[in-house]
Amino acid sequence: MISVTGARKTYGDFVALDGVSLDIPAGSLTALLGPSGSGKSTLLRAIAGLEGLDHGRVGIGGTDVTGIPPQKRGIGFVFQHYAAFKHMTVRDNVAFGLTIRKRPKAEIARKVDDLLEIVGLDGFQHRYPAQLSGGQRQRMALARALAVDPEVLLLDEPFGALDAKVRADLRQWLRRLHDEVHVTTVLVTHDQEEALEVADRIAVLNKGAIEQVGDPVSLYDRPANDFVMSFLGSVA
Ligand code: ATP
Ligand code: MG
Repeated sequence: MISVTGARKTYGDFVALDGVSLDIPAGSLTALLGPSGSGKSTLLRAIAGLEGLDHGRVGIGGTDVTGIPPQKRGIGFVFQHYAAFKHMTVRDNVAFGLTIRKRPKAEIARKVDDLLEIVGLDGFQHRYPAQLSGGQRQRMALARALAVDPEVLLLDEPFGALDAKVRADLRQWLRRLHDEVHVTTVLVTHDQEEALEVADRIAVLNKGAIEQVGDPVSLYDRPANDFVMSFLGSVA
């Protein structure tokens, strides 16, 4: 489980996170949903350790990781615009985290084969990132993040730059992946439909604070206030 307690983050006079407390159950796929500027990425980056907090604490899997650097938090991270190693093949990109950990070659080969199959990129292993579509590149990014068996997978609008059809496909695919791999996943999105369709829990953010947390059906059926109602009600 991930627990954030009393997270506060300011940029000058601007309050980006205003005392956020949130528990994210182990094995869940939780969406952080809210309008642009509501603090979703700031909260995700704080969980990752890419952003320090003014106040508050972050726990991952029962360990207080406040102040611990990202690479020691057991997390995998995927951003909207994924920076792959352009000069490396898909296979080498996915293997990278294992290669730098000097894992045995046979183990790396097995792992990478499994992951490429899971993300539907078997057959693409010898291509370079520039030879993939946007959706394929994001799937490669997910395989690469999963390669090192992270305790937590953090996704910041991973499908944001893609067209509607590809987004919808990847959404389905992420749900299936999660059902298979069960890694605790936090998905940042401003897309209500995406959150309602994919997540098993949704935390709704507004102006750096959490308005409501719950499963999609209870949020949709019983919004806690006008903000949640109008934000979720705007699903086409
Ligand atoms: P979006 O959906 O547009 O990505 P978000 O919910 O992810 O929005 P954040 O990126 O968390 O929003 O930003 C929250 C607020 O904090 C915004 O108003 C933003 O302008 C501000 N902010 C974020 N990073 C900085 C920074 N480095 N310096 C100053 N202000 C910042
Ligand atoms: Mg953001």
